[in-house]
Amino acid sequence: SSTAHAEKTYQIGTDVTYPPFEFANKDNQYVGIDIDLLKAIAKEENFKVAIKPVGFNAAVQSLQSGQLDGVMAGMAMTDERKVKFDFSDPYYKTGFVMAVAKDSKITKLEQLRGKRVAIKTGTAAGEYAMSLKDKYGFTTVTFDDSDNMYNDVVNGNSVACFEDIPVMQYAIKTGTALKIVTKPAQGGYYGFAVMKGQNQELLKKFNAGLAKIKKNGEYQKIVDRYLSSKT
Ligand code: GLN
Repeated sequence: SSTAHAEKTYQIGTDVTYPPFEFANKDNQYVGIDIDLLKAIAKEENFKVAIKPVGFNAAVQSLQSGQLDGVMAGMAMTDERKVKFDFSDPYYKTGFVMAVAKDSKITKLEQLRGKRVAIKTGTAAGEYAMSLKDKYGFTTVTFDDSDNMYNDVVNGNSVACFEDIPVMQYAIKTGTALKIVTKPAQGGYYGFAVMKGQNQELLKKFNAGLAKIKKNGEYQKIVDRYLSSKT
């Protein structure tokens, strides 16, 4: 952490709207657990970040094509992704759930036969739904962002969607007219991603900063900022 050299600015891709991890607040500022964690880590480790809210799938694609240095977007560290990307230490726990309209009678996968399910492009929860499609006989429709996916279910065009539990719980708490009907499946963790074998310095700084903010209480303060009783 030498201050003699100019701080490097890393280009970090993220989702457009994935509360409580990243979203624009009332003042049109980009905030959320991921954004605040990244900023706190960057401050701790003396580097700068330029946050690019391009959407989840676009961020992952841009990272792969070398247009970004990293992705911080509630990105699950799946085995499939570990082939292409190097991940930081885990920073948040997740799992996939199925959500349906508030007044829906659907409570299980068996009731999806012949029905349409909304999923989000390039997401782990979407992949999970795809893996169940043949067995349970449903069709899928894809959306690039979570809001449009939820709306397709709220409007009755699809009967269910698959999303990560902390994100689905937050959306419901903040007014999305859906309900969660399954227990979280395939639990895993979110991590910060870089291209395999590249930006190892950034990854090391991220891990060092994450450890520091976990120890000094800043990590918990950030999580509580979004997930305490207020909202
Ligand atoms: N958590 C999901 C994944 O890892 C989706 C992330 C997102 O939509 N921002 O695929």
